[in-house]
Amino acid sequence: MNPYDILFEPIRIGPVTAPNRFYQVPHCNGFGYRMPHGLAAMRGMKAEGGWGVVCTEEVEIHHSSDLAPYFEGRLWSDEDIPAQALMAESVHKHGSLAGIELAYSGLNAPNLYSRVPSLGPRSMGAIGGSGYDPAQSRRMDKEDIRNVRRWHRNAAVRAKRAGFDIIYCYAGHGMSAAAQFILRRYNDRTDEYGGSLENRTRLLRELIQETKEAVGDKCAVAVRFAVDELMGEDGITSQAEGHDVVAMLAELPDLWDVNISNWSNDSSPSRFDKEGFQEKYISFVKKLTTKPVVGVGRYTSPDSMVSAIQRSVLDFIGAARPSIADPFIPTKIKEGRIEDIRECIGCNICVTGDTRYVPIRCTQNPTMGEEWRRSWHPEIIAPKKSDKEIMIIGAGPAGLEAARALGQRGYNVSLLEARKELGGRVLCESTLPGLSEWRRVMDWRLTQIKKMKNVSGYPSSPMTAEEILESGAKNIVIATGATWRRDGMGRHNLKPIDGFDLPNVFSPDDLMEGKIPSGKVIVYDDDHYYMGGVLAELLASQDCDVSLITPAPLVSYWSKYTLEQERIQRKLMKLGVKIYVQHVLDSIHSDSIRMSSTIIGNEIELEKNAIVLVTDRISNDNLYYELKPALDEGKLESLRLIGDAEAPNIIAQAVFSGHLAAREFEETPVEGTPFKVERMNVM
Ligand code: ADP
Ligand code: SF4
Repeated sequence: MNPYDILFEPIRIGPVTAPNRFYQVPHCNGFGYRMPHGLAAMRGMKAEGGWGVVCTEEVEIHHSSDLAPYFEGRLWSDEDIPAQALMAESVHKHGSLAGIELAYSGLNAPNLYSRVPSLGPRSMGAIGGSGYDPAQSRRMDKEDIRNVRRWHRNAAVRAKRAGFDIIYCYAGHGMSAAAQFILRRYNDRTDEYGGSLENRTRLLRELIQETKEAVGDKCAVAVRFAVDELMGEDGITSQAEGHDVVAMLAELPDLWDVNISNWSNDSSPSRFDKEGFQEKYISFVKKLTTKPVVGVGRYTSPDSMVSAIQRSVLDFIGAARPSIADPFIPTKIKEGRIEDIRECIGCNICVTGDTRYVPIRCTQNPTMGEEWRRSWHPEIIAPKKSDKEIMIIGAGPAGLEAARALGQRGYNVSLLEARKELGGRVLCESTLPGLSEWRRVMDWRLTQIKKMKNVSGYPSSPMTAEEILESGAKNIVIATGATWRRDGMGRHNLKPIDGFDLPNVFSPDDLMEGKIPSGKVIVYDDDHYYMGGVLAELLASQDCDVSLITPAPLVSYWSKYTLEQERIQRKLMKLGVKIYVQHVLDSIHSDSIRMSSTIIGNEIELEKNAIVLVTDRISNDNLYYELKPALDEGKLESLRLIGDAEAPNIIAQAVFSGHLAAREFEETPVEGTPFKVERMNVM
């Protein structure tokens, strides 16, 4: 008896039946209509891994719902059917159901490509795109509403023709017209689509009814609805209108896919929310409907999944991120290989596929997004080509992943690490506030390596070039990471900052080693991702009087792409951190610093007891350059520099780099682009 059998029960959804309770909810990915092959292969991999339902991302149904510059799905016309069919087929190949999220984006669509006015319940500035696009919607009249309903119906028919089994009416995240009509703040209408909740829900009700009429014979009709916006009385709440909408439409759709809004709340990072965090908002839904309910909450533990079902919170375990980090979760649970689950760390790097308009990447799963263009499979890798042995120096994410993947190929690997424990930057960074789940990057790899007789880890083994050469090892991978600069050099300070060598100037490495300054502490952030904000939080929580200075216009600027920026800033402000944006550090003095505005250049002096410089890092590539002559002289067979030692970057890139090195070992380098590129056929 598998304690997780309940997860593998088939569940009926209207006219179709899902083979199990694993449900990949719609998620963006940066491929969209532009890269249909990459997209189809990525979705197909989830189905192969056992997800019983695999959905698309938002799919635009009409050119007046154009989400450019983002790359989402498209079903504007019959010509878009083949690309969608490709995805449905790749999901069906593994016996799973394919779902499509039809979206008429209304106020969320700035229509930068189609250049037609967007249509919304009222006329107002676009809420989508950059958030500040200077475009206003046109208030929909009755004819517009009839048109939108017709376009939705046409798209549903196209989706059915493309082979989809589940067709969504999307009313989540405030990102569709159906949702915007429901939300009081966007709907000031006085006709039968405005006023009472019943009226504001009319459009969604009509869309559901008409989709059922059009395709309900063969396809299930799902609704995605955000039951709470975490805005209190100003928005929908799960006690009031969120509850009442579900009550009103309870039996109308074939499936309820419920969550919280907006996207940053729905995809909350592990810094702020833990597994199952949406349960308190969505658990009422099952009490109001007999239809199956799917919800998310970054579930990676099969026990939590079973519990959510046994407690009648959910019928399906919905997942975007857990299915990205490990497309094979269902198979692993089925086979009782629980420790093999590669758990999502909640970092939201996957989200940056959409927000930076590039194919999806994942910190934990280096094969994510590479299924088609590199033919990478998350569970399968080519066997070794010879009995060569490989020595890897440095056991951070790059070294660990290279060791694991080379070990999986069957090579004998020695992994040598200077520190007492393996894990590199992940070991250190996961001790910082909110980052404990990031340990999963090293924990999963160490668990896998421990099972491999052909991989040995040697902690407390700082290596020199002489020692490496003396060892007789012939194939060397250098994964020695990077060190935070102590001189403040970075994007904005191209020379060492005056006074960097005074006492009480710290680097992030110092703080992670436990050297914590006190009193008035300045954090100077010219790195712009999480480190500056996290260290400010650490210091503020240790009673320092913290000021954060950054040349960027926002605190932790790049974290806006991981949906974290506002939360980070809110947290720092609540902790009393004083924030100076658009200021560059000019000089450090014994009791003060001088900084100047990046805009008008005027100088300000700030008192301080200590300063932490979060700027560039320096690659630890000495070993590589010391060993290179031995390679040139034929004393070594191969030498490769990977991860932060090659070029400092995010953890996801270190893992990717280690994985790439393992895949390419003993492969002849190709001339030109080493992956397939999706190109338009130009006649
Ligand atoms: P990456 O992100 O590229 O994996 P990390 O900085 O996380 O890089 O990890 C690099 C690891 O390499 C660190 O744990 C560091 O202690 C180790 N290391 C650096 N130099 C040596 C060396 N000469 N011998 C052994 N280990 C080393
Ligand atoms: Fe999870 Fe991070 Fe991977 Fe996204 S990128 S799936 S949040 S581990």
